Amino acid sequence: MRKLYLKKVILYNETSSKNFNHHEIGEYIKEMIPSSHVEFRKQFFNPRNDTAVELAKIKVRNLDSVSFYQPLYGEIEFEKKILEDPDKASPAVLYDGMRLQQITRESILKGERNMDYLHIVFTKRFFASFDDNDRRYHARVAIFGFPNIISTTGVVEAPAKPKKYYKLRNKFSNLGLAFVENKLKEELHGQFIDYEDERMTQVMKGYSLQAIFYHLFHQSFCLDKNCQLYNGHWQEEVIHAHIKSGRLCSYHDEMLRRYTSEN
Ligand SMILES: [Zn+2]
Repeated sequence: MRKLYLKKVILYNETSSKNFNHHEIGEYIKEMIPSSHVEFRKQFFNPRNDTAVELAKIKVRNLDSVSFYQPLYGEIEFEKKILEDPDKASPAVLYDGMRLQQITRESILKGERNMDYLHIVFTKRFFASFDDNDRRYHARVAIFGFPNIISTTGVVEAPAKPKKYYKLRNKFSNLGLAFVENKLKEELHGQFIDYEDERMTQVMKGYSLQAIFYHLFHQSFCLDKNCQLYNGHWQEEVIHAHIKSGRLCSYHDEMLRRYTSEN
């Protein structure tokens, strides 16, 4: 079997959030794996018309089925705008994550399309994956593999917020959604990751480690709630694993140590 190795980590940042710093994540990766070389790039896709068509095609229109349609002219134009300025991506548009990964993979430079490279694309695009068990799409924070795609929108929208959030939102829905959401954000401040959350970079360090573990050891998740590899489905769990704990469990820590001592 081919020896596991990580020649270069390439971090792409398609967001413009003030509270997300991919350079800090690169420093963290170098700290965790001193032999790794990290390169920073701004944008992932080259704005091309055929990419805009492909991206418009993979929008999820129905949460209960995998079906794609020929996109409308306006949808293609919208994608062109996002390709020019990825910060224009909207949480209202949901993409099929696996197909998004496929389109992304095809856009990687030929010389960097091998397992010596770990690509992590931080994007504002919001995506979901279809679960064959319950035949539904589920919003995701990350899709790991080649390349890894991690969504700053996904971390806000995918893990469930505290139960109280939904209870109050239903109770006061007649007051208007924007008003109620602002009120809830005040009342439950800090209990979930929000847009422009100052904890965004810290949370993304954990998801980046999950991508690295998937690449090196083919495992990205852990059952220990205190481990950064814990696959949290609730905001509370995400905050606990990545902020309150912010470390690997002893088993995964040792695994990484063994790798770094040999490389
Ligand atoms: Zn662990």
